[in-house]
Amino acid sequence: MTETIWRIYGIRHAINTGRTRGQNFILEAQPDAPLVLDFYSWVLISEDRTIVVDTGMDPAKAARHGHTHLLSPVVALAELGVEAASADTVILTHAHYDHLGFLDAFPQAHFHMQAEEMAYVTGPWMQKPWFRRAYEPDEILRLVSLLHGGRLTLHGREARIADGVTVHWVGGHCAGQEVVRVRTARGWVVLASDALHYYEEYERGVPFAVVFNSSDMIAAHDTIRALADSDDHVLPAHDPRIARIYPRADRAGSEHILRLDLAPDPGNAA
Ligand SMILES: [Zn+2]
Repeated sequence: MTETIWRIYGIRHAINTGRTRGQNFILEAQPDAPLVLDFYSWVLISEDRTIVVDTGMDPAKAARHGHTHLLSPVVALAELGVEAASADTVILTHAHYDHLGFLDAFPQAHFHMQAEEMAYVTGPWMQKPWFRRAYEPDEILRLVSLLHGGRLTLHGREARIADGVTVHWVGGHCAGQEVVRVRTARGWVVLASDALHYYEEYERGVPFAVVFNSSDMIAAHDTIRALADSDDHVLPAHDPRIARIYPRADRAGSEHILRLDLAPDPGNAA
């Protein structure tokens, strides 16, 4: 049997140009310096299959949280020749609102998420405002409804979604944060999702400011290194560097859709 090779499309669906380093990093030396926060979701496409990884952010919630919404996953998928309404597989890397918009745009899809994330977002930690602040209750209710409708698989810490696509628990950012390992033509790429917001966390070995468990968050860096073929095979979810070093997807018209399975050009990192 031949091994499945996947193309990875990164969808930059929102941006926040008003954030500072102090909002992103704990004990930051230059807290007032600006640091843009981009927002990504992803689409994996093989010869005969499409897998959606996270579903972007609801525009009204983006506005309420001070982010500028750029692109819905429905429009982005259409540009890639995929109809969201007929997509059959969606991976949710965690349940924060910037990864869980547009759930209803995928009426045929079966969803996959860490069991620990579901326990977390419906359990006692949500009594604490610090831990619930990046969740939206109406979206958690949608997850419960998908679960009871037989459309959500809550998997254990490691799971195989398809040939060449596996998910791996890391925790840290939230109790059920996972990363996605994808076989591409250039080797194993890891979509770190919010296990890394910025490359800088990985390079300096520091946590992001929104954190459930900082030891798991730092330990995740080692897990990501073990799963990826090299540091150039690792993709954070929110770093503006991504749009500088990865090429635009030539089959898509939007400048916000990138090809992440191709090699980056680190020369453009600055
Ligand atoms: Zn996020």
